[in-house]
Amino acid sequence: MPGKVTFTIIKPGAVDRNLTGPILSKINEAGFVIKALKYTKLKKEQACEFYQEHEGKPFYDYLTDFMSTSPIVVAILEKENAVNDFRKLIGSTDPLEAEEGTIRKLFAESKTHNAIHGSDSDASAIRESDFFFSRVERF
Ligand code: ADP
Ligand code: MG
Repeated sequence: MPGKVTFTIIKPGAVDRNLTGPILSKINEAGFVIKALKYTKLKKEQACEFYQEHEGKPFYDYLTDFMSTSPIVVAILEKENAVNDFRKLIGSTDPLEAEEGTIRKLFAESKTHNAIHGSDSDASAIRESDFFFSRVERF
């Protein structure tokens, strides 16, 4: 049975362009409840650890540089079928392939600068939530 929780990052670029509010509105309108929320910034080595599954890929260094350039907003989100429904809401990784109305179609600048992250499985949602939020920050 799919879980009720997913994890998101509003990426550098989107935060810089004052898109945090519009993106959180889309998330709420789609029926997700924000269970934890934080404005923070990654160091390069933290971005590398977060994206360790992509180590060795051609875009890994560029991606982890980008993710550590400026502040991000991270959140834990709750909804039935959270992981899959959120992936649908954000759209394809490449905004050129993302469906109309998706967050990436609306707000992404490029395949790397694609405005938002969404967990790809229940296990990733747990790992990623634990990466950013301590026990007392979630309730
Ligand atoms: P998603 O974020 O859709 O789950 P991936 O997990 O495959 O996508 O990749 C993580 C992030 O790395 C993407 O959101 C995007 O910012 C970047 N990325 C992925 N593939 C490429 C690529 N081929 N070229 C440039 N950047 C990429
Ligand atoms: Mg992914």
